[in-house]
Amino acid sequence: MHRGIATVSLSGRLADKLDAAAAAGFDGIELFDNDLVSSDLSPADVARRCAGLGLSIDLFQPVRDVEGVPPERFDAVLRRFAAKLDVMAGLGATTVLCCSTVAADAVDDVDLSAEQLARLGDLAHDAGVTIAFEALAWGRHVNRVGRSWDVVRRADHPAVTLAVDTFHMLSRGDDGSALEDVPGERIGFLQVADAPALDMDVLEWSRHFRCFPGQGTLDVTGVVAATLEAGYRGPLSLEVFSDVVREADPRVTARDAMRSLIFLEDQLAARLDGPAASVVAAAPAPAPRTDAAFVELSAADDDPSDLLTGLGFAVVGRHRTKHVTWWSQGDAHVVVNHEPVPTTLSGAATAIGVVAPPVASVAARAEALLWPALARTRGDGEARLPGLTAPSGVHVFVSAEPGAPDDWHADFEPVDGTPDASTWLGLDHVGVAVPADVLNEEVSFHRTLLGLEPGAVEEFMEPQGRLRSRALRPSSGDLRVVLNVADTAGPDRPRGITQLAFACTDLRAESVRLREAGVALMPVPDNYYVDVAARFGLDDATVADLRDHGLLYDRSGSGELLHLYTPVLGTGFYVELLERRGGYDGYGQADTHVRLAMQSRA
Ligand code: MG
Repeated sequence: MHRGIATVSLSGRLADKLDAAAAAGFDGIELFDNDLVSSDLSPADVARRCAGLGLSIDLFQPVRDVEGVPPERFDAVLRRFAAKLDVMAGLGATTVLCCSTVAADAVDDVDLSAEQLARLGDLAHDAGVTIAFEALAWGRHVNRVGRSWDVVRRADHPAVTLAVDTFHMLSRGDDGSALEDVPGERIGFLQVADAPALDMDVLEWSRHFRCFPGQGTLDVTGVVAATLEAGYRGPLSLEVFSDVVREADPRVTARDAMRSLIFLEDQLAARLDGPAASVVAAAPAPAPRTDAAFVELSAADDDPSDLLTGLGFAVVGRHRTKHVTWWSQGDAHVVVNHEPVPTTLSGAATAIGVVAPPVASVAARAEALLWPALARTRGDGEARLPGLTAPSGVHVFVSAEPGAPDDWHADFEPVDGTPDASTWLGLDHVGVAVPADVLNEEVSFHRTLLGLEPGAVEEFMEPQGRLRSRALRPSSGDLRVVLNVADTAGPDRPRGITQLAFACTDLRAESVRLREAGVALMPVPDNYYVDVAARFGLDDATVADLRDHGLLYDRSGSGELLHLYTPVLGTGFYVELLERRGGYDGYGQADTHVRLAMQSRA
C-alpha cells in the first residue's frame, strides 16, 4: 500500500520531519497545518522539497469546526476554508481533512451539518480538492463515525467524503462493523493510530497516549481490514500524537512508524481474503511458538561463577569455539560469556535465548521489520543462531528446537560429572528495565518479531518514584518478558535485564538450601506477614512457615504463588525464585512495592 505519516507524528521542525519520513521510506505525508504555519518554507518550497524527497502530500490537515456552525457565522468558515484551499494550491495537495465541530454552541442538526459541508464541497470541487470529513471522538455532536457518515451521505456531494481514523472510532467503542454500509469510494482518507487501554478523557488520551499500530491494545487491524474490504485503496497513513514522539529523535520515530505499517500489513494479509488481500504485503512468517531457552551473563567485569554455584547451577558444557560456558540447574540454563560483549546495558545480563523455529524465517522477518541484526562470528558447523538487538539494548538469540540442526545446545561440548540434584523447572520470566521513551518500541520488538502480546500497564510505588510495568507473553510458548519503566529515570538507572526469575517445585526446600549455600536473600519485613495473614486469612502456622523461610505469598482464585528474591547484585540484576501452584498465572504484583522498598536499601 501507499504508506504515509502525518508530520505531527514526528518531532522537530518541518524540514527535519520531511527528511525523517523520506529516510524511513514513506511514500507520502499528511501536512499538519501548524507545521506549515510555523515554518519559514512557503507552500511551494514544501512542495518542491517533498518532490525532491520522493514524498507525495497526501493530505492537508486539519480544518476545524466546519459544520454545525450557527448560520450567521458560517461565512467566516467559508472564508477560512477558501484561504486554506489557496495554501493547498501552493502545496499541490488535493485532499483536505475537515473535523467535526467541538465548539460548545455547535448546532445539533445533521441536515445543517450536511448542507454546510456541501457548501464547502462546492468550493473544494472548484479547486480540484476532496474533503475527508472526520468525526473527532470529542466532537460536540458529531463524534461517532456513524454520525459523520450520515452527514457525508446527506451532503451527497462528490467532493465530500468520509475520513476513517482508527483512534477516533475505537476510542468510542466502534469497530470495523460501523463501516458496513459505507462504499469504499466514499472513504476519502484512512488514518491509523493505536493506543493503550486507559480510562481517561478521550481528548487527553488522544493527544498524549496514541501510539503506532501494534504498540497499544486497540483492534486497529479490524478497522483497517473493514476499510479495505469496503474498497478503499488510498494511503495507509499514520497519525500519532504522544508525549513520547514529541520528544524522540524523528528519524528513530519514523523508522518505528514504518515498521508498524509493515507489521499492520502483515496482520492484514493474514486476516483478509478476496480483492483486499492483494493490496497488502505479508512479511516472512513468525515462529508459531516462542519458549525461553537461556539467559546470557557477561563475565567481562564480574565473574558470576560463585553466584551460579550458590544457586545450584553447574557447568554442563563448553562452547566449541568461544570462551563461553553453559551452566544448568534442572531445566534452567545460563550461558556465561567470558569474551567482550558490546553492550549499552548497565548489568551483566546481556541476552536472552529463545526457542522460536523456524529460525531462518524469524531472521528474515526481523530483517523485513527493520530490526537490527547483531554482527557475530559463526564458526564452522555452529548453529545458525540469529542475534538481534532489542531497542532496550538487550540481545536476543533465536534457536531451533532441541535436537534440530540450529539448536543452541549443539554448540557446546558436554562436560563430564554433571550433578543430578538439580530441580528447577526453567526460566519463568525476565524483567527488562526500559527507558520511558523506548517502551513502545520495545513492545513492538517483542510483539512483531516474537509474537508476544502485551498486557495492561501496571503501576507500582517505589521509595523514589513510580514504576510502570507491562508483561508480555506469547499466545503459544512459555517465554514471559516484563518491561519496567522507572519514571524517575536518572543517569544511574539500570538499563537492560534486571531480573532473572526461575521456577521450582519446592520453594521452601530451595529457601533452606540457598541459605545453607550462603546465597544472600532479600529480607522480608515482619509487617508484610501481618498484612499477608490479614489479606488471605492464613492460619498462624502457615504464616510462621512463610516467615521462617522468608517467602512472599500471593493468591488468585485457586492458584497460589510463593516467591523469594535476592537483593540487587553487584552484577546489576537480581534473581527471583518462585513456585506456582494451582495454575497461578501472575507475577505477585501485590508484593512488588515490598520488593522495591527492600531492594532500595542497598
Ligand atoms: Mg485523525
